[in-house]
This record gives sequence, structure tokens and C-alpha cells, in this order.
Amino acid sequence: MDPVQALERIAYLLERSGAPTYRVRAFRGAAATVGALEPEELRRRANQSRLRDLPGVGAKTEEVVAQALAGGVPEYLSRLQEDAAPEAAGPLSGRAAEIRAALRGDCHTHSNWSDGGSPIHEMARAAHDMGHEYMVLTDHSPRLTVAHGLSPERLRDQLAVVAHLNEELSPFRILTGIEVDILVDGGLDQEDELLAALDVVVASVHSKLRMEAPEMTRRMVAAVANPHVDILGHCTGRLLPAAPQVTAGLRRGGGRPESTFDADAVFTACAQAGTAVEINSRPERLDPPMRLLRQALDAGCTVSIDTDA
Ligand SMILES: [Zn+2]
Repeated sequence: MDPVQALERIAYLLERSGAPTYRVRAFRGAAATVGALEPEELRRRANQSRLRDLPGVGAKTEEVVAQALAGGVPEYLSRLQEDAAPEAAGPLSGRAAEIRAALRGDCHTHSNWSDGGSPIHEMARAAHDMGHEYMVLTDHSPRLTVAHGLSPERLRDQLAVVAHLNEELSPFRILTGIEVDILVDGGLDQEDELLAALDVVVASVHSKLRMEAPEMTRRMVAAVANPHVDILGHCTGRLLPAAPQVTAGLRRGGGRPESTFDADAVFTACAQAGTAVEINSRPERLDPPMRLLRQALDAGCTVSIDTDA
């Protein structure tokens, strides 16, 4: 098996299983390092057990490369493939299959420019390989420093990178975007001019999630009514408690309760402003919960089914 493909596949499966971002990045980094070597050089180093001298290559990645070069599927990769959720790998049926078939793209994704584990082109490739026609790149805004939110300057740089990538990837298209923080007063955490220039703006609450309901309602209504905002991201902010068998190494654990707000007021404002309510499909989020999703549909909202990958 090609060692670079093995490392990239491992990174992909780790990312999909919700593994911590640093582990995903470790394998992506190793794939880049190994991919930059001439094949003979790679074999020579592998034979001399000198792969670990390379930056970003540790014991685990060395083992993966050696086993791939030996012609097999590396053990670590087969284990991850076995553990991959069967329902995610298997074919869908009925209504679920219809909805999946109708999905042409993804309006909420993160790259390693903010807190994602993978570079933009890898995200685009994964979206393309899933049959999508487009992907909206929505890295975080400046205030979310823990997630390396993009300053206006970095976002401008990113727009140039995306424009360049789109030339290579056509007809697949990366749409420009942001997951912008909804500030405490309902304002948005990015320059107006930039927000206006982006294809898609997802607005989400990431701070002060325990605000009193009336305040939170005002905050969210102001944001969804903002003409720059297209989608309200993960509206309750809840995190589901992890099933015990998948808790190891994951951030969640105990979960997080829903924020409280007047859902009627927020969804009515969404419907009036034409702001879609996101169905956030991250396994630990599944946000909004079903009862609120019904309420959003009753209020006449459109929805956007996103991975937040
Ligand atoms: Zn978010």
C-alpha cells in the first residue's frame, strides 16, 4: 500500500471518529513529510529504521510506513477501518437515502487555518469524494482564540488561497465563508466589509452560553436578523454525553446542556430574515434537538444540513 495514502487515510478516519485534532494533524504532517521524499530515499530510510529522524515522524507513523512499504495494509489502519461506525459506512435507505441524495454540499467546515485537523485542499477532496459539488469553508472568527480564529488579515489571505484552489478543483467549488461568533450584544465578530464579501456566513454562539433566556433571545434574534448572516449555527450549543465506548481521547465526556432562549422568537426571526437554521450533524452535537427542529420547520424556517467537520 502507498505509505502516504495510508497516513492520509488514518488522518481522515481519526478526524471522522472525533479524535483530538493534534492526532489528526500528526498524521497529516507525517504524510506531507513522507510524500516529499523520493521513493528510493523513503525505502532506504525505512530499511535503516531512520524514518524517525524526519520531522513529524514518530514511532507510530514509522510503523505505518514500514508496514505499508512491506505491501500490506498497516495494522493501525485496519483497526481504525474496523472501528469506523458501520452505519456511517453502510448504504442508507428510505427517506434518509433521499435526503442524502439531495445534499449537494456542506455549508459548515473547518480547516487547519482555525481548529480543523486538515488543510483546505484535503477538506475539499473529501467533500468531492463524497459526491458533493461544493463546500463552504467556515473557519472561526478572531474572538475564538482557542480555535485560532482568523483575523481580518488572515481571512483575506485565505480568500486568495481559496480562489487559487478553485482554479485547480473546478468544477468542484469551495465557497468562501466564516463561522462568525455571535457577540454578547448580538453583534458579529468580523469586519462588515469582509462579511459582505463572503459567500456564506454561519453565525454561532460560542461564549456565555448560560445567559438568561431573555438576553440570549435578544442576542440571537439580533444576529439572525443581520443581513450578512445566512445560517444560524448549532443553535442550542448542547454537547451530548459521549457513549462510554467512544469517550477515550475525546473532548466531550459529560456533555453540555442546551442554552435557553425563546425558540419561537428566534425561529420566527430566522424565517423572516431568510436565515436558515443549521442541522449540525456532528455526532456529539445533533443540534437542534428534534423538538426544536420541528418547531423551526413549523415556523417556516429553511434548514441547512451541515457536518461542521
Ligand atoms: Zn461552532
